[in-house]
Amino acid sequence: MISPLLVLAIGTCLTNSLVPEEEKDPNYWRNQAQETLKNALELQKLNTNVAKNVIMFLGDGMGVSTVTAARILKGQLHHKPGEETQLEMDKFPFVALSKTYNTNAQVPDSAGTATAYLCGVKANEGTVGVSAATERTRCNTTQGNEVTSILRWAKDAGKSAGIVTTTRVNHATPSAAYAHSADRDWYSDHEMPLEALKQGCKDIAYQLMHNIKDIDVILGGGRKYMFPKNKTDVEYRMDEKAGGTRLDGLNLVDIWKSFKPKEKHSYFVWNRTELLSLNPDSVDYLLGLFEPGDMQYELNRNNVTDPSLSEMVGVAIKILKKNPKGFFLLVEGGRIDHGHHEGKAKQALHEAVEMDRAIGQAGAMTSPEDTLTVVTADHSHVFTFGGYTPRGNSIFGLAPMVSDTDKKPFTAILYGNGPGYKVVDGERENVSMVDYAHNNYQAQSAVPLRHETHGGEDVAVFAKGPMAHLLHGVHEQNYIPHVMAYAACIGTNLDHCARATAAGSPTPGPLLLLLALLPLGTLF
Ligand SMILES: [Zn+2]
Repeated sequence: MISPLLVLAIGTCLTNSLVPEEEKDPNYWRNQAQETLKNALELQKLNTNVAKNVIMFLGDGMGVSTVTAARILKGQLHHKPGEETQLEMDKFPFVALSKTYNTNAQVPDSAGTATAYLCGVKANEGTVGVSAATERTRCNTTQGNEVTSILRWAKDAGKSAGIVTTTRVNHATPSAAYAHSADRDWYSDHEMPLEALKQGCKDIAYQLMHNIKDIDVILGGGRKYMFPKNKTDVEYRMDEKAGGTRLDGLNLVDIWKSFKPKEKHSYFVWNRTELLSLNPDSVDYLLGLFEPGDMQYELNRNNVTDPSLSEMVGVAIKILKKNPKGFFLLVEGGRIDHGHHEGKAKQALHEAVEMDRAIGQAGAMTSPEDTLTVVTADHSHVFTFGGYTPRGNSIFGLAPMVSDTDKKPFTAILYGNGPGYKVVDGERENVSMVDYAHNNYQAQSAVPLRHETHGGEDVAVFAKGPMAHLLHGVHEQNYIPHVMAYAACIGTNLDHCARATAAGSPTPGPLLLLLALLPLGTLF
């Protein structure tokens, strides 16, 4: 039920002046819908090509409310009302919902979910690259329960592979692509309990360099986990906390290099200038570590030392594309999640917009004829926006009325819980007294928590390219890599692949297939 006060407020705010002129013509909407219908009818011709390339974009914590808010932000950054804007991911023809729960958690974390959408097996929260038989922190439950990822399947099939993230390269999401760990927090041996070390478990940074030695491109943060303790960081020389963490004294960057064939060109870079001055044609292997820990938020990024996500994706694809057998690339917009945890919606949404830019960048460099692109999230957040805001209202703005209960204004964006809970003199803080449009403003929450939590509802899966139509309906999250592998003819389910011709060409008819299967001599 809407209160009369509220109706009055809406009535005064939602005047006709907010409506773009063309939208007043019913034909605007009819033509737009008919155009959409025409495109939808085209989709009946399914793309059943073999996916030479697979690109997976993972927005960490990018629930559906975040996607919608990021869409409005993107439009408003282009001086539009925003709601009508299309994100790059909005243009993908197929959409599904993914059920994100972990085997032991209704509201999941990024480690168990990464195991699901990369390895195809649901797992316990906090664990990566292992089945649900592994219990978090219990090293001795790891052995025998390892599960491999689509990145490994792609390498086994002779494809190139890359990992690009805005978090540490040994953070939960990327680590499920190459590591098997009972605890996502075992970044280096320094973070591991003695018992686990004694039992022979290896930290995740170590596993990054040793498990799959020929990952072609690795870009992100996490420098400190690669170097011996007390080794000064190359960028933050005065900051002790930025220095190396490893107790075993290993220099994992040197080890990474030593595993590469001498005749190949391997490069380690640590800043944007170095990255962008590389000639991708002459790079075989690339390791870029741009921060000691996670990379900077896009809004705080230093344009000399820190590349943007879309810049990293651009370089990665140029290098990976050189393999005639194609590639698998995992791209993580990893700090959408961090912005939300801190209650800083503006940081989170700018991270999401930047990931969308990277999706556009990848789309411009590849073709849906031979490249399957999947965009999804691991889980949602308790992030919401509402309050009957008028068309084009700043996504970071106020609702058009005060609360009919405490008589104070409120922002459209709110969190269910988190650090933004604020009571002043026994009452909810008056937001009109603070700079709620600030980059680091923490939106109000219903329950005080130092870290806002994940949300438990389904997340969206957007797909385009070969076999994208298999991502439809409501499915378990671990279904996703099974589709990607099927489309690319990698992994174990390959029976359909004998029928498929070379990458990029359509499936042949039965006669053509018969001819192709006959020994050459029988034709003459
Ligand atoms: Zn999180």
